[in-house]
Amino acid sequence: MSKIKIAVLYICTGRYEKFWADFYTSAEKFLLPSCQKHYFVFTDAKSILDEESPFVNKIYQENLPWPYPTLYRFKFFNKISSSLESFDFIYFFNANIKICKTIHEDDILPTIDEDLVVTQHPGYWNKPVTAFTYETNPASKAFVPVGTGSVYVAGGLNGGSADKYLKFIKTAAQWIEEDENNKIMAIWHDESHLNKYILDKKVKILHPGYLYPEDSNLPFEKIIHLSNKKKTLKGYGKYSLKEKLLRKLLFFKRPDKRVQ
Ligand code: UDP
Repeated sequence: MSKIKIAVLYICTGRYEKFWADFYTSAEKFLLPSCQKHYFVFTDAKSILDEESPFVNKIYQENLPWPYPTLYRFKFFNKISSSLESFDFIYFFNANIKICKTIHEDDILPTIDEDLVVTQHPGYWNKPVTAFTYETNPASKAFVPVGTGSVYVAGGLNGGSADKYLKFIKTAAQWIEEDENNKIMAIWHDESHLNKYILDKKVKILHPGYLYPEDSNLPFEKIIHLSNKKKTLKGYGKYSLKEKLLRKLLFFKRPDKRVQ
């Protein structure tokens, strides 16, 4: 019997290239060991570990100022949609991820009637619906009236069958483009659009142990370690003048602090 084919989407531009080796090594060891995995790495890094492997596709991606490396992710993925069509399943992983326990098919693959696989946000699993940080601007395509949803999910790990995931990224890219044409940027970028998209979908929800932040203490088994960028990325949180201006212009409504 032929192996299940998984496309792994990964972005690491600029200093995030540092995370690739740990992510890749841990995914090779622990992620769906019985499946065939093919990594699509969007990066401007000169070289990355194992780039000569036929299962690692390095795709040049310019290092845009934050938040564009994350906000434009769907646009990046759409560029390779024809290559992605031939896979059974597609998963996106945040850069600062290290997998620590074996993840089997039953753990993360969707059933035939599930539209997407999403991860409950480690900062919101015990918060009331009214505390969820949905986009509150009714003019945004990501708008969700407060109190609507039942689970707030993180942008850091999601996936699905190739057809359903490709449908999602196409829709999300369109929504973001439409927002941009109206000079709107959703408060949590790609994550806001994902939360909007799943409102009327049937989803498999992974517990927050699949995105377990370093230095936190959650009542969930730690399956995936999410490293603290302040510790691992030199100068993280310090912004260039261009980034500072952009933040001022676009994120005046962004809360200063949010649950990790
Ligand atoms: N990212 C990147 N380069 C950057 C900023 C972000 O490659 O300079 C990618 C990377 O995959 C990262 C993801 O975008 O994991 C989410 O970015 P961010 O750090 O803003 O979000 P968070 O980790 O808080 O989800």
